[in-house]
Amino acid sequence: MDKVDCVVVGAGVIGLAIARRLAQAGREVIVLEAAEGIGTVTSSRNSEVIHAGIYYRAGSLMAQMCVNGKRALYRYCLDHGIPHRNCGKLIVATTPSETEKLQSIRAHAEANGVDDLQLLTGDAARALEPALNCDAALLSPSTGIIDSHAYMLALRGDAEEAGAACAFHTPLLRARADGGRIEIEAGGDVPMTLACNLLVNAAGLGAPTVARSIEGLPVGMIPCAYLAKGNYFSCSARAPFSRLIYPVPEPGGLGVHLTLDMAGQARFGPDVEWVESIDYAVDPARAERFYPAIRRYWPTLPDGALMPSYSGIRPKIVPPAVATQDFLIQGPADHGIAGLINLFGIESPGLTSSLAIADHVGTLAEL
Ligand SMILES: Cc1cc2nc3c(=O)[nH]c(=O)nc-3n(C[C@H](O)[C@H](O)[C@H](O)COP(=O)(O)OP(=O)(O)OC[C@H]3O[C@@H](n4cnc5c(N)ncnc54)[C@H](O)[C@@H]3O)c2cc1C
Repeated sequence: MDKVDCVVVGAGVIGLAIARRLAQAGREVIVLEAAEGIGTVTSSRNSEVIHAGIYYRAGSLMAQMCVNGKRALYRYCLDHGIPHRNCGKLIVATTPSETEKLQSIRAHAEANGVDDLQLLTGDAARALEPALNCDAALLSPSTGIIDSHAYMLALRGDAEEAGAACAFHTPLLRARADGGRIEIEAGGDVPMTLACNLLVNAAGLGAPTVARSIEGLPVGMIPCAYLAKGNYFSCSARAPFSRLIYPVPEPGGLGVHLTLDMAGQARFGPDVEWVESIDYAVDPARAERFYPAIRRYWPTLPDGALMPSYSGIRPKIVPPAVATQDFLIQGPADHGIAGLINLFGIESPGLTSSLAIADHVGTLAEL
């Protein structure tokens, strides 16, 4: 049986960042990816926002890793010439009761170490974004956008330069721990069996399935998987905004917000649609809910301007009734299997947090 030091399952942004981290620490790494290339699943179906870290529960992994990951990501983008823009975002209150909530959002952000939010009057917000309807707003200067594919290409390049290899069309089928090492079986074009010292499960939506295929992993350690689809609509009219525009959050989601891609094109969403299976088609009828939500902050959105665009699916590990979840990253101290690290529920802000998550995995792997 062939041997390799480390196997990373999944070549999304998380698996690539981990592979880079391990390879740059001098470990031998192979990335097994079921699809034909890097970043074809959730990592290319998101908003490409570099989040500030405002909303996550204080002390949660999401809060810590978003704030640390944001700093590391901006630095990485500058060092590697990754297209990005530190454009900032406005959280917009359109009623007096929403205006009252802005103070508590700012206090919550400060508890997470995000201490640069500025409270603006409606006039001050409109001086920045004249097309905006609002009573008041919070400006988050550290929010930004990134070309996520350029970022993943750079991560892959760093990892390969440090000796890592990616095997595409190569799904992990099963694994079992055997006396300090882990034996794995992979299928696809070139089926293989491999023995490794470290197995990192960064399979995104597939992580619970991969975990269930690992013989000896206690079933109680594997979370249930739930799917929360997020649908996006693009806009045929030019949206006259240079910052990201978010409403005050509503229970269960951030509300229908406006983000921009690196070309300046506006997109609206994602909404939250709990689904039973993976289907990325966007139902045009959902636009009916987007128009009134958007017109609260952009009243002149023209009729007929919204067009179904794309969707992504959040890898949830809590059911709809539970308001929030955290990243769940388990190492040997949690499940008792030497050399195994599982990552579950890496939904937003996973892209922002990717470098910090890789550092955390590095610590669990005792680099
Ligand atoms: C709608 C939406 C919007 C988002 N917006 C943002 C945002 O603006 N900012 C932000 O920071 N984050 C955002 N996120 C979160 C971010 O996109 C994810 O956290 C991140 O992409 C997760 O990366 P990943 O590598 O874990 O998963 P993925 O990108 O899904 O990669 C997992 C890989 O594992 C592979 N795989 C699965 N099973 C196997 C197997 N058995 N063998 C081999 N390979 C396998 C898959 O093919 C896939 O390539 C958003 C997420 C969603 C859904």
